[in-house]
Amino acid sequence: MKKTEEVAHDNLAAENYKSEQKIEFDWDAVLEGVKKDLYFPPSWLFSIKVAKIEGKMVTLEAKTHFQALWVKNHYLQLINDAARNLYGKEGFQVTIDAGEENSVARESRKDRVPDNGGIREPHDPQTASFFSSSNTFDNFVVGPSNQFAHAASYAIAENPGMAYNPLFIHSGVGLGKTHLLHSIGNHILKKYGTRLNTFCISAEHFTNGVVQSIKTGSMDKFRNLYRLNCDVLLIDDIQFIAGKDSTQEEFFHTFNSLYTAKKQIVITSDKPPSVMKNFEERLKSRFEWGLTADIQPPEVETKIAIIERKAEEEQIEIPADVASFVAQNVLSNIRELEGSVNKLFAYSKMFRERITLELAKQLLSNLVKKEAPKIITIDLIQKEVSSFFELTVKDLKSNQKQKKVSEPRQIAMFLSRKYTSSSFPEIGNKFGGKNHSTVVHAVKNVEKKIGRDPSVSNAVTALSTTLEKFITS
Ligand code: ADP
Ligand code: MG
Repeated sequence: MKKTEEVAHDNLAAENYKSEQKIEFDWDAVLEGVKKDLYFPPSWLFSIKVAKIEGKMVTLEAKTHFQALWVKNHYLQLINDAARNLYGKEGFQVTIDAGEENSVARESRKDRVPDNGGIREPHDPQTASFFSSSNTFDNFVVGPSNQFAHAASYAIAENPGMAYNPLFIHSGVGLGKTHLLHSIGNHILKKYGTRLNTFCISAEHFTNGVVQSIKTGSMDKFRNLYRLNCDVLLIDDIQFIAGKDSTQEEFFHTFNSLYTAKKQIVITSDKPPSVMKNFEERLKSRFEWGLTADIQPPEVETKIAIIERKAEEEQIEIPADVASFVAQNVLSNIRELEGSVNKLFAYSKMFRERITLELAKQLLSNLVKKEAPKIITIDLIQKEVSSFFELTVKDLKSNQKQKKVSEPRQIAMFLSRKYTSSSFPEIGNKFGGKNHSTVVHAVKNVEKKIGRDPSVSNAVTALSTTLEKFITS
């Protein structure tokens, strides 16, 4: 007679045996595993399907020859590792084939993508191109604040490498830089298909790539990825590499090789090159070789147009007085504008209620704190201005005459006049006892430079956005 535990053990073994027999290949589960190892999987990776399973051999199918080749070169090892994690050593072996694609594109890709025999590249987020399909020129609302940046981006997307190189787009946060960058990528993809290979990456991903490559001693491979594969480089938030010397060095070389080969480069940043801190001069000067375009905070009309466009997309009716209320109360950031609108839409959908001005005021009460006392003080302005320019408040109050101190001081005086009710002498007092005429001169000087001198304009815009947050939050 077998003991109870022995019987239980036998039963378990039998169960296991049975379930082993039934193991089916679950591509979605494998993909989940792959995703964990990729910082930035390209969106098309998820359109890859299982074509056939013969015993333990799984053949995947990509939509295009290019994608199949890309997977083979960059992801196949990763896919097999993920499968092994799930099904063990004796589990499935995965390969990939291309689906239908026209032969012209196939030929043109063949000699462009180097075949490295499927060597695993664990740090290849920088090779992945991914554009958010919701960020296109079609849904970018153009107004006076962004029409220049929009026109330059569109010209580049039509003829990459032919119009301006590089294109440098800068603005405060949430004003549409990333949207424009992805629009360029989407447009190029639509117009040129697989003939042009666009890398759309954040500067953070570029940095990760550099760090990994240094760690694993594979810098040459990293460099070649750009030199051999990239036709258009769209790089977002370049300010991220400030103070990162090795990454700047690498970016400098990447920039040079792409630029010399007449490959299009588009860079976005939170500041114009001239006021970027902790950047090598040679990089900053290159950023200005092509065209620099800024995006200003939107005017009320543009904000209304954006709200109406969103309402159209969501098929929700938004009365004019509500649109105007939101536009006037969200001060400058489009991301916040969208947040407010989404809140209204979500409420209206959930409770099937029409959006009225009353409802909007109630739901967005955080926006309408206008009655709250203004808390912008000269001290606050001095703190914000000094940190923006990486100076100290003491510098602002000093008598130093160099431009790197005197210009921020003048901007701080201008903002003090704009946001506080202090008189010229009071402002002068707060700046280390300057006299009245110094403040008057400073304010006039800054007013003159706004709209003419991009570094002053941009600083005033960015600082105004920051300061206005103190009134609304
Ligand atoms: P940034 O990169 O400058 O911080 P984003 O491009 O992320 O800003 O824009 C913030 C949000 O506002 C995004 O959802 C974007 O789609 C939207 N947005 C920005 N500008 C526009 C515009 N002109 N028209 C429509 N949507 C816009
Ligand atoms: Mg962005």
